[in-house]
Amino acid sequence: MSVYLYNTKTRHKDEFKPLNPPAVTMYCCGPTVYNYAHIGNLRTYIFEDLLANTLRLAGYKVKHVMNITDVGHLTSDGDEGEDKMQVAAEREKKSVLDIARMYEDAFFRHTAALGLKRPTIVCRATEHIQDMIEFVKALEDKGFAYISNGNVYFDTAKFPRYGCLSGQSREDLKHGARTEQDMNKRNPSDFVLWFTSSKFENQILQWDSPWGRGYPGWHIECSTMATKYLGERIDIHCGGIDHIPVHHENEIAQSEARLGHEWVNYWVHMEFLNNKSGKMSKSKGGFLTLDTLVEKGYQPVHYKYFCLTSHYRSSAIFSDEAMDAAKKAYENLADYMAEFKANAAGKSLTAEEQTALATYKDEFNTYLFDDLKTPLALSHMWNIVKDNKLSDALRLAFLTHVDGVLTLFLKDVAPKKPETVEVTPEIAALLEARAAARAAKDWAKSDEIRDKLAALGVGVKDLPNKEIELIKL
Ligand code: AMP
Ligand code: ZN
Repeated sequence: MSVYLYNTKTRHKDEFKPLNPPAVTMYCCGPTVYNYAHIGNLRTYIFEDLLANTLRLAGYKVKHVMNITDVGHLTSDGDEGEDKMQVAAEREKKSVLDIARMYEDAFFRHTAALGLKRPTIVCRATEHIQDMIEFVKALEDKGFAYISNGNVYFDTAKFPRYGCLSGQSREDLKHGARTEQDMNKRNPSDFVLWFTSSKFENQILQWDSPWGRGYPGWHIECSTMATKYLGERIDIHCGGIDHIPVHHENEIAQSEARLGHEWVNYWVHMEFLNNKSGKMSKSKGGFLTLDTLVEKGYQPVHYKYFCLTSHYRSSAIFSDEAMDAAKKAYENLADYMAEFKANAAGKSLTAEEQTALATYKDEFNTYLFDDLKTPLALSHMWNIVKDNKLSDALRLAFLTHVDGVLTLFLKDVAPKKPETVEVTPEIAALLEARAAARAAKDWAKSDEIRDKLAALGVGVKDLPNKEIELIKL
């Protein structure tokens, strides 16, 4: 079965054809660790993880690389504003590296709570400075970089395809992305590869370089680490839609200028989570984290379920009502799972059921293979789960498959315990009479009493040694 993905580069849904099947290389821009990831960021990571799982389901071997931005990201995606890490260190009276490690740990705690797999490789910008210097040197050697007032800039005028991803001209991009003008740039869309002299004289993290002591620009880390770990041509590159016009244009420009050929085949971008008052953003403050949701009485998996109810290419609006609905739906699903587990224990599927199961799984997979259509996959799942004509064993096998792809922690749901029967004097008397009838081998009488008990909602199961188990019907 083929997988189809909407490709920002071609602007349509393309059949996914990796360069070296079954291997798939996938790079995802990771968090800037100057604060907790907000739940909007997490929506993007949930869908990136789902994409990797879906490709594995289709038989591919996915190498998933994610960077950790712990240096160089300014408060605007361009080269303006303050250094995000430094601002956080001052705010929290900690060292920049302590801040970075603390928020990196929090990030992986949150992603694990959501059931996201740790990427195959997680790489920190600060641990790849030498590789970045080599990259910038190569750009300089090829004539794509220039030095102005001590900083090294990428010259976008030398890269005619600049703007190809967003379909904007360099002129358009400069208006969209810039708030203040860096007078050292030759062209407004140029960007910094290496800072030596800047307004951050007391920048804490600095390294020696051929251009003087300084630190890298933000964009160069992704081009450098993606190429280092995934090679010169990459199948898939992901990120949130905000990255299209600046960060990803700059990544393409640097990488293709250095490599001399196209770099990424499929660009996959996740739409935003907004709240009722607009975009959720880390820099705006007042954003929601996974911990805030837990404090409000939700489990991380409720948020994951909420995310899966919308398609990754549509924006989603967060609200308490929507979270309540997701929580209720998930709890309902977990109840079904508990019941299936209790009733289907040890039961195997008939040949007919095996065939039906294969069809149901295929239908579910097809929705995911079609550009991760999670709302349709979930509605298909509910049709099967609620179909009482299907056996519990079949529904259990189907939900186990769903859980294997979506990681909704259904495997951890305990089987429903049979409800205990309250033995009233009337029931006790009937049980005694039944035991007497059975001792006298009066089976007709015993059956009659069993029916009476059933009418009172009590089932009786005979165990060895004349013991009985009472079942609430
Ligand atoms: P950052 O840590 O700010 O670099 O962002 C991490 C990831 O989250 C990037 O892929 C962003 O594009 C993405 N992102 C940022 N804000 C949102 C949002 N409100 N909804 C969904 N994704 C977002
Ligand atoms: Zn990136």
